[in-house]
Amino acid sequence: MNIRFEKAPTLKQKPADETKLGFGKIFTDYMFIMDYKTGEGWHDARIVPYGNLSLSPAALCLHYGQEVFEGMKAYRRADGGIQLFRPEENFKRLNSSNERLVIPELPVEMAMEGLMELLKVEKDWVPSAEGAALYIRPFIIAVDPFLGVRPGDEYLFIIILSPSGAYYASGLDPVKIYVESKYVRAVRGGMGYTKTGGNYAASLIGQDEAHKEGYSQVLWLDGVEQKYIEEVGAMNIFFIVDGEVITPALQGSILPGITRKSVIELCKSWGMKVTERRISIAEIAEAYDAGKLDEVFGTGTAAVISPVGHLKYGDKIMEINDNKIGAVSQKIYDTMTGMQWGKIADQFGWIVPVE
Ligand SMILES: *Cc1c(COP(=O)(O)O)cnc(C)c1O
Repeated sequence: MNIRFEKAPTLKQKPADETKLGFGKIFTDYMFIMDYKTGEGWHDARIVPYGNLSLSPAALCLHYGQEVFEGMKAYRRADGGIQLFRPEENFKRLNSSNERLVIPELPVEMAMEGLMELLKVEKDWVPSAEGAALYIRPFIIAVDPFLGVRPGDEYLFIIILSPSGAYYASGLDPVKIYVESKYVRAVRGGMGYTKTGGNYAASLIGQDEAHKEGYSQVLWLDGVEQKYIEEVGAMNIFFIVDGEVITPALQGSILPGITRKSVIELCKSWGMKVTERRISIAEIAEAYDAGKLDEVFGTGTAAVISPVGHLKYGDKIMEINDNKIGAVSQKIYDTMTGMQWGKIADQFGWIVPVE
């Protein structure tokens, strides 16, 4: 692929204090862009200075939400090198989202090449502070200037980069979540398994109400009966009941997390019993009452593992593992982050070095 490079007249000052990066606020000097047009395919790959886009106010994505995105990170190793964690999985998932949203396929190799080139240009932006990483946001938007409801003929694939800080300031602080009983996020046959803006728009009201009550997020139940557990905000959910690792099975309404998949593979490699199935919230409450709910944690690229210390279901409050991170959660966290930052060997072939 021929990638055109347009040099920025000046470069930005890199953040002086990498312990105060936060998330998603700072952007690097360059972005990768590629166009698509029906009949021409993907073309004009370029790395250009990061900046505002020029779009028609009638662009399809602005009105009907035809857009998909991904989220991943580049990690700085102790030896100064940079590496990615299962990046092809992200681009495969992007294509699964594309298919659902009737967006043309983007070959994984093309997306990988664009990302690798952009990372080589922006390598100095990958932070080295403990727990900090370069967050990568690839996305596709339909840009046809047309107000009719139909799939677009013109798209942009863009990758932007944002240095982000450690998710946890000190240790892994357990989060407080409640079981959402009013709203639903997705239903079978809908778009729950895709990373598309509409799913997050649908979840904002639940998150907003949770924040007002002092909870960080909500645990979504299935959209039909509101009985079965699905996932949390931007994280999949795991339960350890009587030593068995249990997570909701993927049946179309849950996002197939790459961290989820990796945690399943990791726990199986340790000889643990891992089950993917339907789990009702009533079953979890029962396990809690029987003293068998050992650990609960969320999984996602941002936090890797997010222990749940307090889970509210109606009037029932479940305090899990004395509101402290459990031994298995800690072991998974240490192993996953150890591999991601290159501190421990990768026995699974999950790490892709950039340089
Ligand atoms: C991104 C996301 C996840 C986590 O996926 P990872 O690939 O592990 O980062 C889980 N649920 C939702 C709704 C998400 O958007």
